[in-house]
Amino acid sequence: FSDPVLTRDSVGAVIDLAKKFKEEKGRIPVFMEVCGSHTMALAKTGIKTRLKEYVQLIAGPGCPVCVTDQKSIDAMIQLSQEPDTILCTFGDMMRVPGSKSTLMKAKTDGKDIRVVYSPLDSVKIAEENPDKEVIFLGIGFETTIPILVLAVLQAERRNVNNFSVWMTTKLVEPVLRALLHSGEVKLDGFLLPGHVSVVIGEHSYRYLEEEFSVSGVITGFEPVQLLSGIYKLLQHQLEKKVKIINDYTYVVKDKGNVVAQQLLEEYLEAHDEAWRGMGTIPKSGLVLKEKYARYDAKKKFKISIGEPRVTKCRCGEIVRRLITPEECVLFNKGCTPTNPIGPCMVSTEGTCAAHYQFMREV
Ligand code: SF4
Repeated sequence: FSDPVLTRDSVGAVIDLAKKFKEEKGRIPVFMEVCGSHTMALAKTGIKTRLKEYVQLIAGPGCPVCVTDQKSIDAMIQLSQEPDTILCTFGDMMRVPGSKSTLMKAKTDGKDIRVVYSPLDSVKIAEENPDKEVIFLGIGFETTIPILVLAVLQAERRNVNNFSVWMTTKLVEPVLRALLHSGEVKLDGFLLPGHVSVVIGEHSYRYLEEEFSVSGVITGFEPVQLLSGIYKLLQHQLEKKVKIINDYTYVVKDKGNVVAQQLLEEYLEAHDEAWRGMGTIPKSGLVLKEKYARYDAKKKFKISIGEPRVTKCRCGEIVRRLITPEECVLFNKGCTPTNPIGPCMVSTEGTCAAHYQFMREV
């Protein structure tokens, strides 16, 4: 899927179809890649830059760090100040600026904050530190949520009562619905996320064709897979078809991962979640059910935070696709990957980081 000859041929095939689209409609097609890993892969492989005259590829709301709202970041930083606590999180979260500080700064100030590869590691840390409260900062979409639940399940089985999760989870369907209802962006189709789809399955996207008449292709992350997805979206447009296609059948099944779905149903319930730049979207996140409240850090620790400080960072508009990173005055000036001002530059899946690393004119 990353063979250079096949990639070059695929680019040619996409450009040929995109030219036909332009001849017919008098404009270039606009497709959205929902997933942050797709944004990075399309930038890194040069596909975005190579196709930019023919196909507009816009980044969707699928970078979990970027869509975590400022208030949650501030709450996480404040949580790190609690005595006798160990905070565990994924590496990307360490440098996300809150209103006044970052978790990285809190760590250098002596707070016990640890980067872990999996929430399960933080259960082990809790077992090894019975006199401390261990909190995992759990952000993520459907791909990550099952492992958060597994950590709770493991804590339950091992009777680890000093472990909890600060849940700030997000779901793909409510945000895509909100996006389409807002009418802010006119789209000709979606490149649908490969990883999330492994969990939720192909059938979860039927509403796109049935209610919104928008096509989507579930695809992988290699150049030929990405180009195949774009090619199929163009085909749909030219044949005037609306369809959801699973182009990633080797890992994505129609019903998804039923075991993971059952786990989520057993432990979690829908919750109105706040998104950066998009406000609160009804039932767009999942939180632990009341019977598991002892593992819910938001219930265990009462953190009160004020309104976040307003900064010049325009990530809120980036995640709503209202501007490109280059339109932010701080891009490549005050804000770079080594000195990020906002989460879209911090995250390895962030749109600003992708533009800085792979699409910047030098
Ligand atoms: Fe925020 Fe930096 Fe992106 Fe501007 S370039 S929107 S400051 S992350």
